[in-house]
Amino acid sequence: MAKKSTNSYDVIVIGAGPAGLSFARDLADTGLRICILEKQPASVLAAPPLDGRDIALTHDSMALMRELGMWEHLPKDEISPIRAARVFSSESSYFLGFDSAHTGKKALGCLVPNNQIRRASYLAVKKWRNVTIRDKTEVKKVSTDEARGTVALSSGEVLTAPLIVAADSRFSASRAQMGVPVTTKDFGRWAIVCRMTHEKAHGEIAQECFFDAWTLAILPLQNMVITPVQENRQSSIVITLPTSEAEAVMKMPLDAFNKRIEQSLGDRLGKMRLIGERYSYPLVAVYASTFAAQRYALIGDAAVGMHPVTAHGYNLGLAGAHRLATEIRKALSLGIDIGDSTVLDAYARDHRRASAFLYYGTNALVNVYTDNRPAVLALRALGLRIADKLPPFKKYVTKQLTGKAA
Ligand SMILES: Cc1cc2nc3c(=O)[nH]c(=O)nc-3n(C[C@H](O)[C@H](O)[C@H](O)COP(=O)(O)OP(=O)(O)OC[C@H]3O[C@@H](n4cnc5c(N)ncnc54)[C@H](O)[C@@H]3O)c2cc1C
Repeated sequence: MAKKSTNSYDVIVIGAGPAGLSFARDLADTGLRICILEKQPASVLAAPPLDGRDIALTHDSMALMRELGMWEHLPKDEISPIRAARVFSSESSYFLGFDSAHTGKKALGCLVPNNQIRRASYLAVKKWRNVTIRDKTEVKKVSTDEARGTVALSSGEVLTAPLIVAADSRFSASRAQMGVPVTTKDFGRWAIVCRMTHEKAHGEIAQECFFDAWTLAILPLQNMVITPVQENRQSSIVITLPTSEAEAVMKMPLDAFNKRIEQSLGDRLGKMRLIGERYSYPLVAVYASTFAAQRYALIGDAAVGMHPVTAHGYNLGLAGAHRLATEIRKALSLGIDIGDSTVLDAYARDHRRASAFLYYGTNALVNVYTDNRPAVLALRALGLRIADKLPPFKKYVTKQLTGKAA
């Protein structure tokens, strides 16, 4: 382990987002001296503002969050179960359905606001004395050689460690500095997320609706998230739409917006009303050509930046951070240098195996569901019917959500 010095650590993590924090927490009990560098202030990490994202968690993620002491920091009334999920194509009432009743579990997964996940991750890490979080600290330049990694900060300070882990978002600057190529897929679309109340109960059922130009996801929330409403009458809404329409929809007057969503959904949830802000995100997916370079590893969105339609970005990031932490633990037990290429390559191989199908499969799904040629529309509707009758396919998707134990 590194000698005690304020500028040298065992591991430097760039980014105190959910991936960087869960990775640091995962390794905290090894006694390694870990430094997390984050440009945002600690006050924001401790109380992150709402960002409109409600994250659908799989059972594997929930189990890992419990193990890492993150779950206990989530407010119980902000955890919403998803009992079933339905996928619709256009205005047809036919749907492809997934139900927790067939899994032996009460729910397929659950929804938690992203700001609560960020807060819980921060609180779980903060108590470890061997983990230093340097806030208001921007990384300017990363480089590595055979012996160490070096990080230059905007303050002019220079830090070193045998291993640098980048969790600095899908637009990772350190990844470019380290010369790691990425495949980028710009969908030419945006996601607009918000919360709405509705007349009819959602029954804890998530709905994904694919229309000609828009997709609309309705994610069922518990009560009291923003405003007290009747039971099961509040949902998180994710609209994806062409870039050319995004600004107008963000600025659309309240009544018109409510009506637009209501009409899109037919009468599924009755009258709808926006509560709070609308938030927008460009839809750009990113896949790094490798997750490991010399004394450098990529985790979270910096490794795999998913399109949100299949709700896998955070889940994959958490699992990937755990994979890297597991390889580092193995190296420590064998007395191997934790920044050695054998350690990092094992992680990179494993995470690639786990993510490639999800990443490319999600992009292919988005392509099919945003192609509005009549033949594709017909195939789409037919595809839902066939998939609904295919037990192995439904079993695979359900298992992705409910985890290994299902
Ligand atoms: C609309 C939407 C809905 C989503 N829904 C789901 C879902 O249902 N399920 C799911 O699993 N996932 C979902 N996701 C994905 C999920 O939100 C992300 O995968 C996750 O937040 C990524 O975490 P991260 O830590 O990798 O990156 P980030 O959250 O981007 O964090 C990166 C951190 O690095 C810091 N940073 C960057 N550069 C520097 C620098 N140079 N110096 C210092 N600090 C730096 C940033 O300030 C930031 O704090 C959704 C995403 C969107 C946009």
